[in-house]
Amino acid sequence: MIYLDHNATTPVDPEVLNAMLPLLREHFANPASPHSAGQAVARLVERARRDVAILAGARPRDVVFTSGATEAANLAIAGVLATAPANRRRVLVGATEHPAVLAAAHAAADLHGGSVQTVRVHPSGAIDLAHLRALLHPVPPPTAGPPPTAVPPPTAGPAADPEGSGGSRGRGEAGEADEVALVAVMAANNETGTLNDPRPVAALAHEAGALFLCDVTQAFGRIPVSVTETGIDFATASAHKIYGPKGTGALIAGRSARARLVPLIHGGGQERGLRAGTLNTPGIVGFGAAARIAAAMMDDEATRHRAQTELLFDLLVGWLGLSALEVNGPVEDGTGRPGPIRLPNTLNLRFVDADADAVQSCLPDVAVSAGSACHGGGNEPSPVLLAMGRSATAARESLRFSVGRFTTVDQIHAAAATVARAVLRVQSLRAVGSGEVPQPAEPAGSERPGASGRPPAGWSDPVTPPPGRTPELPVPRSALP
Ligand code: PLP
Repeated sequence: MIYLDHNATTPVDPEVLNAMLPLLREHFANPASPHSAGQAVARLVERARRDVAILAGARPRDVVFTSGATEAANLAIAGVLATAPANRRRVLVGATEHPAVLAAAHAAADLHGGSVQTVRVHPSGAIDLAHLRALLHPVPPPTAGPPPTAVPPPTAGPAADPEGSGGSRGRGEAGEADEVALVAVMAANNETGTLNDPRPVAALAHEAGALFLCDVTQAFGRIPVSVTETGIDFATASAHKIYGPKGTGALIAGRSARARLVPLIHGGGQERGLRAGTLNTPGIVGFGAAARIAAAMMDDEATRHRAQTELLFDLLVGWLGLSALEVNGPVEDGTGRPGPIRLPNTLNLRFVDADADAVQSCLPDVAVSAGSACHGGGNEPSPVLLAMGRSATAARESLRFSVGRFTTVDQIHAAAATVARAVLRVQSLRAVGSGEVPQPAEPAGSERPGASGRPPAGWSDPVTPPPGRTPELPVPRSALP
């Protein structure tokens, strides 16, 4: 199996596993116990807290361990709305946020009588700051009474209607004069890898008196994140995205943001009263180890992963032709190639005329994702791609590739060849079905992907990239079996 689905989850790094095992063996004591065995484990937990904080650019006391990013988002959003003044119950969420944020926002708005509005994104998937500004400072209707205190600047343009075409009311309804309590915009999108700079979002939110939640789950450990420097009030992260165990994550929140939290789970007062329950010590220590390793490897991994995703793109273009592919996400001006402002490990591509589910079913040995794994499958087009302005057809023809720590160049070559073959097969079956063209005559027993398709001019070897396109790739630190 060639695993190219690291945005869904990552394997546990062997070093992380080694760090965790003592917590399951000799260091099994409860860290809340005052005896020396318990306090030894408590020290390991605090070391993990420090390592997670370092990777997040935060202070150790800002880290609240949770069961994952989903719980962290729920804790933050519910807390903000529970403690918000009656005239500040609006939540603004980016149109491409993960369901962990979207569903938590709607649930909290339902519970506390707030509303949820959607902030549009650009075709690249990046947040539309002008629309965010307009939603933060809506123009009151003429009958609303007092003159406007804040008017959207001229650049707000089409977003002057605070609902905008990309906006939508949540199930909870709030008054027109309702101020914004929370803005939720992710640092990196899980499906496309599109990045948002948290700084301007934080500045706009704070200027309007709102708090800022940034889901850094996919960015954490892959690109530099600094919660304190960028003005993020709440950040959510998860261990299983950075080669740590599943079921462990964190909410990272500075002192004043933490003061807004209301525990979702009540009990023994662990995590300074914010998250009760005996700590998941193997998970937390694994998270700390994963954070430490990610900090040490981030630069090298980013370089290697960018080279690997570019190589994958080049190989696929070589076999299928540039016109058969579309990048979902930031695109380099003029070339149609994947742009630089994305998670280095992520490539989301549309294969024209090839249904992604059908392609996937031809790929038993390559793990990729059609849409977000967290959307529970189904044939629904990805809401993320729709929000970026893709058609439903384009969204259904899109696959996400996400490389990881143990991905090798050989795997990229093999995966590109296999995917190209699958795409050509699906396209040819579709063409046969519609009576457009005859099925391509693939020589029986040919192992060469695309042998019946369109090999690139002057390039006959299916596993070697076109001349001049082979990046120098650092050797992976270690390889999984
Ligand atoms: N946010 C993003 C961007 C994600 O990709 C995910 C997981 O896919 C989550 C949140 C939820 O994380 P967890 O599985 O730790 O709850």
